[in-house]
Amino acid sequence: MRGSGDILFENAAQVLTLRGDAAPRRGLAMNDLGILEGASILVRDGKIQWVGDDLGEVQDELADADVIDCRSKVLMPGLVDSHTHLVWAGHRRDELELRLAGADYEAIFAAGGGILSSVRSTRGASDDALYEQSLRRIQRMRRCGTTTFEIKSGYGLDLETERKQLRVARRLGAEGFRIKTTCLAAHAVPEESKGSQAARAAFVQEICERILPAITEEGLADFCDVFCDRGAFTISEAREVLTAASALGLDLRVHANEFGHTGGAVLAAEMGARSADHLLHLDAHETELLRETGVVATLLPGTSLVLGKPFADGRALVDGGLAVAVASDCNPGSCAFENLSMVLAIACYGCKLSPAEAVCAVTHNAAASLGVSEQVGRIDRGLAADLLLLETDDYRDLVYHAGSPLIDEVFVAGEALSRR
Ligand SMILES: [Zn+2]
Repeated sequence: MRGSGDILFENAAQVLTLRGDAAPRRGLAMNDLGILEGASILVRDGKIQWVGDDLGEVQDELADADVIDCRSKVLMPGLVDSHTHLVWAGHRRDELELRLAGADYEAIFAAGGGILSSVRSTRGASDDALYEQSLRRIQRMRRCGTTTFEIKSGYGLDLETERKQLRVARRLGAEGFRIKTTCLAAHAVPEESKGSQAARAAFVQEICERILPAITEEGLADFCDVFCDRGAFTISEAREVLTAASALGLDLRVHANEFGHTGGAVLAAEMGARSADHLLHLDAHETELLRETGVVATLLPGTSLVLGKPFADGRALVDGGLAVAVASDCNPGSCAFENLSMVLAIACYGCKLSPAEAVCAVTHNAAASLGVSEQVGRIDRGLAADLLLLETDDYRDLVYHAGSPLIDEVFVAGEALSRR
């Protein structure tokens, strides 16, 4: 059947299909991008209808299709950013000079800056102000090639504001952005709960017994995340939160092993989390636990660069057989990078992934960690036509010419952003 509004992306130098099933690619399998040369893609009703190099197979269906000439260009899936905190109010540009002059992130955090300063501005912002700021941010991110976004709360640390952040995230979803949401109420201990062990314990209880149930009841979150690290939440506190979330039917993610071997990765494995994120410090035992339990290892190399921390050893993780994803961590403090295609390049130079592994990490593997790899992250029949058209005949230019404006056009469900 011929459909109106069909689009033929014709004769690309490379089509990065990432063909295969919906499971995350592990280890060296991440290097196989399923590249087709001189291939075309037929899109119908916003979905990929056909991919191949023999147009004769679909000759009868092409008469009404709009044709986009892709000669000497690359077609690849839209990027999937599986770890962002992009809904926040205010900014922390004022910390830049302090940090560049050597002030430590953990010290800024302990002094009431860092996360808690974003909590103050986010609590104080109206729903609309928060939405408008976040909308501008996510639009820029999409112009840089990201078409699917995970968004965490965690700048509320109370029910009202966590709910406000997640509602804004859902509103962005209603505006046509592909969004998965995560409740990160356990991002930091709020100012009002500091000072005594009892107050701290009461906050963890508040998350488990009030915040998570209310947010689940309203359908505001797909995942629950916990910042399990030095200066944030202990292993037993994090376990409490993740156990409560799991009982409510939420899938789990963990901020783990950013500041040391602080137990987050082990806990992510124990709890069967979808993803363990950061992983700057990971020994052979922890690596093996993540591999055995199928937790996706999500690297955030932009944050290492900004904070002057070591990079996660992505090479060791891929060689150790893990499924690796890479994400922006876009947040107001430790890394406000919005351009995931640049973070892809940093993952190569910093974490020593190959360009192919890094592409897999920001597309299919990120999608798998969000449970959306049946919809996005590959170029295959039936998946959403979220596509990037690159102004080059070799995708490795994303790394070679890192940061250059190589993305000629971003398509969401077959629609060019520049024509919206
Ligand atoms: Zn984060």
